Amino acid sequence: MNTKSPNHQITKSLNHSITQSPNSPTCLVLYSGGLDSILACKVLQEQGIHVIALYFITPFFGYKLKGQESISKKKALADHGIQFEKIDISEAYLKMVKSPEYGYGKYMNPCIDCRILMVRKAMKMLGEFNASFVVTGEVLGQRPMSQRRDALRIIERDSGADGLLLRPLSALHLRPTDMENKGLVDRSRLLELTGRGRKDQIALAVKYGIKEYPAPAGGCVLADPILSRRLKRVFELWPDFDVNDCVLAQMGKHFILPDRSWLVIGRDERENAKIVSIIRKGDIKLDLARVPGPTGLWRKMIYSDVNADIAASILCRYTKVKKRSEEVKLSGPGSENIKIFRTVPASDETINKYGM
Ligand code: SF4
Repeated sequence: MNTKSPNHQITKSLNHSITQSPNSPTCLVLYSGGLDSILACKVLQEQGIHVIALYFITPFFGYKLKGQESISKKKALADHGIQFEKIDISEAYLKMVKSPEYGYGKYMNPCIDCRILMVRKAMKMLGEFNASFVVTGEVLGQRPMSQRRDALRIIERDSGADGLLLRPLSALHLRPTDMENKGLVDRSRLLELTGRGRKDQIALAVKYGIKEYPAPAGGCVLADPILSRRLKRVFELWPDFDVNDCVLAQMGKHFILPDRSWLVIGRDERENAKIVSIIRKGDIKLDLARVPGPTGLWRKMIYSDVNADIAASILCRYTKVKKRSEEVKLSGPGSENIKIFRTVPASDETINKYGM
């Protein structure tokens, strides 16, 4: 329960002028683009603290940002006055997701380990940005796994951020950090939000003029029931599952063939193009030779004509032109032709048997 309304606190904050002097401390904020992390930035900016937002890229969230950094940076600055830096932690993140010390939440979301990894990374970057502490938009009691009081404490301890991790949205419910004790941060201007409700955050968004923000956890596929089920299965099948595999796992229709190989069929033009963009050595691309249709990617196979025919027939099943048989072209990453199969569309039974 909140004991002090955010409106009261914001009005109080806005009555202070923003005075960022050359001696103002700098902090690194774990920034997801979600409302809580934007608010964390705003609360500190209003104290004149210099905020640098770190946007982490992993195979499971933020990945779309890869290659579009300058557009996103301009948008964050224009929309929210927030300067951000993107940090790609894909390899380390995937390693953690396969074996999180504190386990998974409801789905494949290893929230405590996820936070520890990001805070630890931010701590290591303090010197690079001449910053003195780390900030998150966590709210006590908002999420069942990572935002319980004991979990917040574990995150602080295991990331090596003892005393240097500030949660401005719930600070008044937590013990004062070193920055508050030293007077670098004015504790009286921090907030005391708790719980799962979003009412207070929405009121704060209105006060700060924040109009666009995604749904909470909306960008993390590890908290998605369908994708998590698929990820669990592929981690079991292929322990060496890598970042490129993660990208593939998040698109298309999926099939596991008898040799435990993996067939993915694009569902639209965008996915077909994406499949082509991530094909690599050892993969086989499938296309319909004579009519338009989806693109398929066959991976982790031990090649045999029997399995190739199953893969080709599954691809045929998703062409719009329904004929008794079709030609399917199998080619390697460099477009080298492997084989052309004439095959019939897979039956419902085959689709159900191999579908994931
Ligand atoms: S929902 Fe996803 S991004 Fe958020 S803490 Fe959990 S694992 Fe990390």
